Amino acid sequence: MQVFKFGGASVKDAESVINVGTILRKFADQKTVVVVSAMGKTTNKLEELVKAYYFKTPQLLNAFEEVKNYHFSLLNKLIPEKENPIYNELENVFVELLWAIEEEPAFSFNHHYDQIVSLGEILSTKIISAYLNYIHVSNQWIDVRGIIQTDNSYREGKVNYELSETLAQTQLLPLVIKNKLIVTQGFIGGTSENYTTTLGREGSDYTASLLAFFLNAEKVIIWKDVPGVLNADPKYFKNTKKIKELTYHDAIELTYYGASVIHPKTIKPLQNKSIPLFVKSFISAAEEGTVIKESDQRLNITSYIFKTDQILISIQPKDFSFIAEDNLSIIFSLLSKNGVKVNMMQNSAISFSICIDNDDFKIEPLLESLNDQFKVLYNTEVQLMTIRNYNDEIVAKLSEGKIILMEQRSRNTHQMIIKSE
Ligand code: ASP
Ligand code: MG
Repeated sequence: MQVFKFGGASVKDAESVINVGTILRKFADQKTVVVVSAMGKTTNKLEELVKAYYFKTPQLLNAFEEVKNYHFSLLNKLIPEKENPIYNELENVFVELLWAIEEEPAFSFNHHYDQIVSLGEILSTKIISAYLNYIHVSNQWIDVRGIIQTDNSYREGKVNYELSETLAQTQLLPLVIKNKLIVTQGFIGGTSENYTTTLGREGSDYTASLLAFFLNAEKVIIWKDVPGVLNADPKYFKNTKKIKELTYHDAIELTYYGASVIHPKTIKPLQNKSIPLFVKSFISAAEEGTVIKESDQRLNITSYIFKTDQILISIQPKDFSFIAEDNLSIIFSLLSKNGVKVNMMQNSAISFSICIDNDDFKIEPLLESLNDQFKVLYNTEVQLMTIRNYNDEIVAKLSEGKIILMEQRSRNTHQMIIKSE
């Protein structure tokens, strides 16, 4: 048994879905669970929609129409016959969404976010499952919310491993054995009260890894628009190199520092059961990608992890007290309360600096809560550059023409926060 994951870019238009169909046809008679994300940029669009709904801005109906038209026009190209039951199914999802946004918000923003944003994955999997059946790649659609159970931390659902494992073994496994090909959603889960949760942005990789763990799969394949794990993001660097083999440990380190090729939570469950993870190109499926597995071959090439749209915040106690344990403990509890992850930090006698992602859902409430006790200064539009296996020459070259706002080095890793001059 194996678990596949297809991300948003691999199903962004009809052509891409057809390509996924071509890949899956080859595995039609193997026990495969296919985890799919929302199509293209749907999740971002649905985020806009929730904001418009909750904060009552006029973009609401526009966003709704955009999401609806996008999915129907994609479907149209895949399955032109309007009598196909998928048309009704999609229509129903949109009718329910419309009802939901006509009501006054009754819960927290995050609660509504999860109920609405999760529809991206419901829509994509329904379309893909219908299309596969249409081209005679027989499969079964499964609602993953009945398997992946979480607490009610909306937008950051914490998975109940015991319960989810039992459900995967008793509900999902027999279906995999019987139907062979299963199509289900990444990124979303369900609570004991039957509400929907999400597992954090880009969380579909994590779903694939969880399902592989619960089902004791042989392997996981993440199909991407890059040939595997590269030593740098080709969006920002020329001459990138593919890494053929990577240990779990190195993969955890790379994703921890922000390599966006795999979600950071993905590796741990696989490592615990020694399930290898393959990262392969959906464009050239025959090519070997990267394999992440146990081995004593540590990564020795230089890799570059570049995080843009960062914000550097400097926090100073208003009473001019030192930055010591008591102040740090207040700061960290506010960070944790606001769900903010620190990418880099440094302290001096009277100031504590942190570099975080510029997530406008989180920054404002964080700044507000810090402002009570601290003087807060910040720098936006800064970038965080992490170099693993660095040397001075490489660092000098990369910081050329840049202002370095903060810098840290350990034996293997060099990090700097930079701003263009
Ligand atoms: N669709 C979700 C997102 O864009 C989950 C994922 O793509 O992994 O964040
Ligand atoms: Mg996505």
